[in-house]
Amino acid sequence: MLTIRQAHEGLKNKEFTSVDLTKAYLEKIKKSDLNSFLGFNEEWAIEQAENADAKIKSGKFEILCGIPCAIKDAIMVEGQKCTAASKILENYVAPYDATVIKKLKEQGVVILGKTNLDEFAMGGSGENSAFGPTKNPHDKTRVAGGSSSGSAASVAANEACFSLGSDTGGSIRLPSSFCGVTGLKPTYGAVSRYGLIAFGSSLDQIGPIAKNVKDAEIVFQAICGKDKMDATSADYNLEFSKASLKGLKIGIPKEYFVKGIDKEVEKIIKNAIKKAEDAGAEIIEISLKSSEFALACYYIIAPSEASANLARFDGIRYGMSVQDGNLLDVYLKSKGQGFGEEVKRRIMIGTYALSSGYYDAYYKKAEEVRQLIKQDFAKAFEKVDLIFCPVSPVPAIKMGERTNDPLSMYLMDIYTVSVNLAGLPALSLPAGKVENLPVGLQIIGNHFQENKIFAVAQEMEKVL
Ligand code: GLN
Repeated sequence: MLTIRQAHEGLKNKEFTSVDLTKAYLEKIKKSDLNSFLGFNEEWAIEQAENADAKIKSGKFEILCGIPCAIKDAIMVEGQKCTAASKILENYVAPYDATVIKKLKEQGVVILGKTNLDEFAMGGSGENSAFGPTKNPHDKTRVAGGSSSGSAASVAANEACFSLGSDTGGSIRLPSSFCGVTGLKPTYGAVSRYGLIAFGSSLDQIGPIAKNVKDAEIVFQAICGKDKMDATSADYNLEFSKASLKGLKIGIPKEYFVKGIDKEVEKIIKNAIKKAEDAGAEIIEISLKSSEFALACYYIIAPSEASANLARFDGIRYGMSVQDGNLLDVYLKSKGQGFGEEVKRRIMIGTYALSSGYYDAYYKKAEEVRQLIKQDFAKAFEKVDLIFCPVSPVPAIKMGERTNDPLSMYLMDIYTVSVNLAGLPALSLPAGKVENLPVGLQIIGNHFQENKIFAVAQEMEKVL
């Protein structure tokens, strides 16, 4: 099915209307058995498409006008449910639009519905959703990857032209890799987080998932920039980049190709690197020596921030409230029944790591390690333009394969979490397949160098 560009051309040349397009996607969604959507609103989608068609008729419209998209159900869309795939928010209706939604609406997009995710974006497989896992469109016995499972699966299965996900430790890149689509985790601060249900506030970023690099760039351009509602957001003008593979210095972290990586995945990534070299790039071995501590560091910082962020779901202020007994009972029962197992685990780890006796040993230490990880990247970017590496050490795993072993689940994040800890941008690009399962190449750039990533990724697209 269509890319954003193709759909835009079709709309411009009056080959079809946005209503036609929207109906076609809605049909796909209704027939789908992937569980990629938690909710969609047919009537509202058609209404948005009609409005877009009116705009198109007037002749003055932007590239995303009339394009049907899907939104991770952790991003607020006014008047629509926003569940974060949690029982505690099962009936919560968003009172306002996230800034990214406001921006997309200004362009006239059609929002088809809200996509499935790991509860509160905590997970790597999509299996932590309170409403059932998302299936991988390439093999329904396998996971779609998480936490933005539905956002990646819906684009891969042509249930949406593009989608938005969020990435705290890999949640855009991992499902993009598993589903064979292109996903960007932007530089921290490039995109406003206002209206995103917070998980780890110093790590979270909203980003696009799309059919190809150009589409990801188009969406990124539409959503990036300073927002007065998010003090961590930055002014951003995505400038055109002339970067090309010819003469490009690509860093390959030697620590990333050691034990634990699937041999077939390794082959695909090495082949991609070879193709870049054939096209004129200079391959340079780099060392990210603190990356061995990255997972431990992430799994202290992310749960610590989560434990603070999730304190607001107390059965009084938001969502589900179990009105039984005294005030303490309401707290205990609402949280006890509302949160799933993984969310509770993270709250407990985070609360422990932040408690007065342990703060120095865990949280403070992790923040120190985070600085070392940042420094590794800063040093590497003195020598190289971009870094190439895998997104995940394995292709999509079987449903249930790791659900009883959280640590083995966390290991899937080994190549993605450092990027969030350092606040860098990174893109997952389909690079090949192990049998029928897609594998993504990760392209990491320096802060605010998304343009370089896009330029080079588009060249890689041609040679892969
Ligand atoms: N898999 C990671 C985790 O469980 C990352 C999640 C995310 O990026 N939202 O925390």
